[in-house]
Formats: sequence, C-alpha cells, structure tokens
Amino acid sequence: MPIRCEIVSQDRMVYEGDVDIVVLPGTEGEMGILPHHAPLLTTLKFGLIKVRTKSEERIFTVAGGVAEIQPAIVTVLADAAENVEEIDIARAETARKRAEESLSSVRTEDVDAFLAIEAALRRSNLRLDAAKRFRTGKRTTYTEE
Ligand code: ATP
Repeated sequence: MPIRCEIVSQDRMVYEGDVDIVVLPGTEGEMGILPHHAPLLTTLKFGLIKVRTKSEERIFTVAGGVAEIQPAIVTVLADAAENVEEIDIARAETARKRAEESLSSVRTEDVDAFLAIEAALRRSNLRLDAAKRFRTGKRTTYTEE
C-alpha cells in the first residue's frame, strides 16, 4: 500500500500523489517516511524532498517549512518548493545576482534587510545547485559512446 504525499507552498499545490517513500530534510536530519509511519510533526530545513515509486523518483527543492506525517499521508507546508524539472535557471541566476549585489550594499545595522537578502541568496543557490545536479532533462541529452 502506498502513502499519499502532498506538497503545498505558500502560493500553490506543488505535488500530490501516491508514492512508496517520501524522503524529507528534517531539521534533525534526513527522514525516510514509509506507509504506516507513526504520526509526527517536524520542521524542515532548506534541502531536497524526494518521492519515489517503483518506476520513478521526483525531486523537489524546499526552502524550509513543516511536515505533518500520518500513517497514510505526508503533508508538507513549504515556505517555497519546486520540482527540480520546473526550476527556471535564468530566474534563479537573476535572483542570486540581485541578492549578491544587495548584500554588498546593505547597511550592517539593518538586520531585517540583511536576513531577507541572505535568505534570497540561499533560495537561489539551492535552486541552482539542485537543477544542475538532479535535472533528468539534462541527463537525457547525454549520448552513449
Ligand atoms: P524571485 O526573486 O525570482 O521571485 P524568490 O526566491 O524571491 O525568487 P520565492 O518568493 O521563494 O521566490 O517564490 C515565489 C514563487 O516562485 C514560489 O511559488 C516559488 O516556488 C517560485 N519560484 C521562485 N523562483 C523560482 C525559479 N527559479 N524557478 C521556478 N519557480 C520559482
């Protein structure tokens, strides 16, 4: 029997499906959630969510959030989440450049602005790293020699 997985971000439903395992970046460490898992609530750090069935694996970036685990369903409420296949690399590069430039000009006493820029930099780096490492679209362009 599979486990239901729903990944919801602040502005959209990112994924819903029935899978065999959900791997989450819990703040206490990576967690593999199988069907019939005991109820649990955990916070998530920046990282990757992996959902697997026998035939496929999907990988999502998650910029923090919380996950509620029940025996038949995992619900992720993410601050932001994207399927790595859907990441817009040009947008993430623009966001990183903007954040880097802002970081060099922000006043050190403006802590809120500094933290917001730092978070934007971490989001863009996470998206760029994940898109480069895990996009299958890229891998399928390889030609076997
Ligand atoms: P930007 O400055 O480019 O908007 P951001 O980090 O401020 O980046 P968020 O506020 O984290 O963006 O996300 C807003 C929405 O846009 C979310 O739904 C998020 O999943 C999506 N999103 C952000 N960046 C990308 C990207 N590079 N590719 C695909 N979706 C993205």
